[in-house]
Amino acid sequence: MIESRVIEHDIIVVGAGLAGTWAALSAGQQGVANIGVLSKIHPLRSHSGAAQGGIAAALGNVRPVAGTGPRGPLEPVPAGDEPPDSWELHMFDTIKGSDWLGDQAAIELMVKEAPEMILAYEHMGCVFSRLPDGRIAQRRFGGHSAPRANYAADYTGHVLLHTIHEQALRHGVRFYSEWYCMDLIVEDNICRGVVALDIRTGALHLMRAKAVFFGTGGYGRAWKITSNAAANTGDGVAIAYNAGVPLMDMEFVQFHPTGLYGKGILMSEACRGEGGYLVNREGRRFMEDYAADKMELAPRDLVSRSEQIEIDEGRGTGADGQGIDLDMTHLGREKIMTRLPQVRELAMNFAGVDIIEGPVPIQPTAHYSMGGIPATVDGQVIADAAGTPVVGFYAAGECACVSVHGANRLGTNSLLGASLFGRRAGTAMAAFVQDGAGLHPVSGDPVARNQARIAGFMDGGGKKESVGQVGAELKETMTRQCGVFRNAEEMGKALEKIKRLQQRFGQAGIMDKSRRFNTDLLGAIETEHLLTFSEVIVASGLARTESRGAHYRVDFPKRDDQEWLKHTMAHKASDGPILSYKPVHIFTDRYPPQERKY
Ligand SMILES: Cc1cc2nc3c(=O)[nH]c(=O)nc-3n(C[C@H](O)[C@H](O)[C@H](O)COP(=O)(O)OP(=O)(O)OC[C@H]3O[C@@H](n4cnc5c(N)ncnc54)[C@H](O)[C@@H]3O)c2cc1C
Repeated sequence: MIESRVIEHDIIVVGAGLAGTWAALSAGQQGVANIGVLSKIHPLRSHSGAAQGGIAAALGNVRPVAGTGPRGPLEPVPAGDEPPDSWELHMFDTIKGSDWLGDQAAIELMVKEAPEMILAYEHMGCVFSRLPDGRIAQRRFGGHSAPRANYAADYTGHVLLHTIHEQALRHGVRFYSEWYCMDLIVEDNICRGVVALDIRTGALHLMRAKAVFFGTGGYGRAWKITSNAAANTGDGVAIAYNAGVPLMDMEFVQFHPTGLYGKGILMSEACRGEGGYLVNREGRRFMEDYAADKMELAPRDLVSRSEQIEIDEGRGTGADGQGIDLDMTHLGREKIMTRLPQVRELAMNFAGVDIIEGPVPIQPTAHYSMGGIPATVDGQVIADAAGTPVVGFYAAGECACVSVHGANRLGTNSLLGASLFGRRAGTAMAAFVQDGAGLHPVSGDPVARNQARIAGFMDGGGKKESVGQVGAELKETMTRQCGVFRNAEEMGKALEKIKRLQQRFGQAGIMDKSRRFNTDLLGAIETEHLLTFSEVIVASGLARTESRGAHYRVDFPKRDDQEWLKHTMAHKASDGPILSYKPVHIFTDRYPPQERKY
């Protein structure tokens, strides 16, 4: 038995992506000295670093060349000219993109603070792509009515994350790299700490803190075809739910239109932002049938559905007709080499296609989780629809639901939201700690409880199931029965299947019994988490008998504001989630719900 320790911090941050690193950095900037950040992978390998396309803010640095129409080539806006973009436009685009499920006060705050957020990165020396006069370059993105994606070629997330990681180190933040958070300790609605596994030694530790922050990222790994990294298993979401925290709007999962065919690896939306075409078997840009105005730059939910219809109706490309062609050949070598070098490399390595020379086959891929742990704009996690706080527990980034993305996120708003709400949460936690919050006692023995969980996986006697097999069946089920198009019958079957898989998982064991770097063990814990929150996704989706944003029900194809203009809240109970609902914040005089057309 490896010795277990009790570790104490003022603030413990779980997750070292943009949300977690910002939370730690801003708390550090406010003068909190004792901050620990846990990451199950090396911090700089967090999925934020894989983001390619850009981070949104209405800087208004570029506009279409006069007389070329809204989709024409872009030019820098001359000094003194009226800026072609504003926070108001960004706000409306985000609300419309969200299919009116986003909370409008939160959206307003995000888009107003966005330009300053970019300047904060700028002042830390972030290497954005530039216009000839030195201003930050901007490109178009889907659902945005002006070019407002600020980028660094197609390495945006990479440069943002490296920039703030350095700053967090400078502020003395302690990183626990390759530490896995297994459990959250909440008693009497007060958060007291976490239980974490040091992956390298196999030791379990109780980590106590005055405030705990979750920035654990998304959960695309519940699907077989996904753009998400292996680490995106929604641990934080499942852990919070197990600790009694509700989950909000879990039915809303975004399918990105351009994952590499058969693999799901992302071909960034920047491909279409820079002018790429989507083409069907007949060689036609079919988006003219679905969104004649925005074409390929309609929002993701709409483009993914359009692709799926083309495929289902026999106009897909490739030998089995299950793909769509993404054609960028007309952009030319120079533009591709300067703006999309990583995309080109990914396509060459994983599809054997040079995008300078030919189209690359793609398909919709599970990409982003709009739902998650309900949190305020200051990261405060809430326990119910009335807004009761879970004292000392904070969350932001993809694992949280604020909700600024509503039923469908616009590209580039995620890096913005993760940065901005992570930073705000850090500031709020610093105030909470500096106002005299203390460490709260922990009852029982949470370390022993988690030790028993680990022993359960390792106990070979009588275990008939393999973790890998159960996980694979779950991913297959989610892809087939809870994908771009959904209906009651298929989701009902999916729910039954998940419950059976949960039971079978109780009989699942792992072969590797070693303590050090036991990746089998991590896989088992992660699979348990996938099974936990997938049930919430399907149950919430089955209950929502309307189509809104990314949640499309073929049996209820219309949006139903009368019945469903509300957020889902799911609480854990012994036989599955209990669903309740919470109103959406809407400025009825400014942005009342409208039909969503592109
Ligand atoms: C390929 C790709 C491209 C994208 N491109 C863009 C883009 O161009 N623009 C945009 O706005 N958005 C983009 N997104 C979305 C965006 O990148 C993410 O939503 C955002 O970066 C999430 O940040 P985060 O800090 O919440 O989580 P992440 O960056 O995913 O970090 C999660 C962190 O949590 C840690 N963690 C998780 N579970 C545990 C645990 N149990 N114990 C310890 N640590 C744990 C991980 O180690 C990691 O450090 C893209 C996403 C993908 C997948």
